[in-house]
Amino acid sequence: MPVREPFDPTYDIADPRLAELIDAEAQLHHLADGCTWAEGPVYLAADDSLLWSDVRSNRRMRLDVASGEVTVADAPSNFCNGHTLDHLGRVIACEHGTRSVVRFESDGARVTLADRFDGKRLNSPNDVVVASDGAVWFTDPTYGIDSDAEGYRAESEIGSSNVYRIDPVDGSVTAEITDMVRPNGLAFSLDESSLYVSDTGVSHVDDGPRHLRCFDVDRGHVVGGGDVFATCPEGVFDGFRLDAAGRIWASGEQGVHCYGPDGTLLGTIRLPEVCANVVFGGADRRTLFMTANTSLYSIRTKAVGREV
Ligand code: MG
Repeated sequence: MPVREPFDPTYDIADPRLAELIDAEAQLHHLADGCTWAEGPVYLAADDSLLWSDVRSNRRMRLDVASGEVTVADAPSNFCNGHTLDHLGRVIACEHGTRSVVRFESDGARVTLADRFDGKRLNSPNDVVVASDGAVWFTDPTYGIDSDAEGYRAESEIGSSNVYRIDPVDGSVTAEITDMVRPNGLAFSLDESSLYVSDTGVSHVDDGPRHLRCFDVDRGHVVGGGDVFATCPEGVFDGFRLDAAGRIWASGEQGVHCYGPDGTLLGTIRLPEVCANVVFGGADRRTLFMTANTSLYSIRTKAVGREV
């Protein structure tokens, strides 16, 4: 059951196009609370459910969308963080605790996709996306090894925080982006000619990055680019997703910021808590689910989320 009655959202409208994306009657639904740090949502159409991570409580949560029932799916969860689905609908998870990216088979078996680069242990994979060729791309900042709060404290063996690609044929891992401070969320443009990656490096460097960059991708690899696409108005962009028109819905301290494909800020859906990540779901992919600090929220939109 909802933990609080639905309520009217507050918007900051930067561009009139935002009004075309939000139903005037739409209310914010407070679907779950009691998390320590809600992150990494993924929507499963197969059973109309949502999985997300309560990273610091070391558990994976599940929402049955139709009934509103919230349950603990896994505890401990190896301090899981970002989730996505592959083209067969299998759940892929980033785990701080095992410093790896894993996949869950339909029978529940757990397969490690990557835990090392160049013979060294990964830092703590944070967020993940699957390209149309089946390659799994993920970010590897240090948040899960900086302390024992959301993983196990350790030194970085690699010594930098990179974006990696796991080859769909031979499973080899390549470093695709190596010039970011703390890469975090990531998503491809609709035609996969660009890869958007957020850098939340202000957590470790004074006046450090809190922006989204856009890299050029060709034949499955980053070939250039890297310009700043948008800077977070307050806080950092942690995770984000695209809708089917190529707009970017990005988390931030104030809530969710919506950007046009050209980088224009259309507006912000204000949330009562700091938002960490979002995902579109529901049978029509018009519901935006938002993990925010202790809670899970949703709002109906007129936008349609892209697949995963
Ligand atoms: Mg993240």
